[in-house]
Amino acid sequence: MSDRRIFVQCLASYNAGSIVGRWIDVDGETEDSLHDQVIDILRGCIEPNVTGFKAECACGETFKETTSQPVKPGDLLAECHHCEGREAKVIEAWPSGEEWMIADTEGFDGNIKEYSPLSLVVELAEILEDLGEEADAYLAWWSNQGGDMPSQSDFEDALVDKAESFKDWAEEFADEYLLDNENIPQEVKQYFDYEAYARDLEHVYTVLDLPDGNKAIFRD
Ligand SMILES: [Zn+2]
Repeated sequence: MSDRRIFVQCLASYNAGSIVGRWIDVDGETEDSLHDQVIDILRGCIEPNVTGFKAECACGETFKETTSQPVKPGDLLAECHHCEGREAKVIEAWPSGEEWMIADTEGFDGNIKEYSPLSLVVELAEILEDLGEEADAYLAWWSNQGGDMPSQSDFEDALVDKAESFKDWAEEFADEYLLDNENIPQEVKQYFDYEAYARDLEHVYTVLDLPDGNKAIFRD
């Protein structure tokens, strides 16, 4: 499937006129692994104002964070990022930027914003992965209705079909559900106004353009 990526950059550097950032691949990543990469980007900040550090815990996990408190290698942290125990020890510390933003995205159709949390990025990537060929329809639907990320089940309930054009789809719909009836005389069928029918039907459904040129058809 498509490669989903976000371009993360350091905000303090950006405000100082420099782009310090890079593309991060999202597919298959966890919130933790994305977070660690963001911390690595902030490490390049040209106007560092906090401390970045890497810690290792007795629970076996390592993690990266930034803090406004001064920390140095050897310090014990109040809390481990993973087990919430007090056995996490700082093994490396460096000057860092603190704030970051998502300056660009690929594969999300604009639904990930500048300050979307990484948890949302991961959750959305998982839904899109799961939806496979319907991922584009999901993104188009969310873009169209706006607001919070829709649930996968709401989307699946709303999606009726995909077609090359709504007119083609409506004609097929008419043939299958309306005209496939032996009580309708053939001479009536041949005068059926498919175009007018398609026009009427278009008011009942939401029809959205997909990147591949097809249409996605949703219940209103
Ligand atoms: Zn731990």
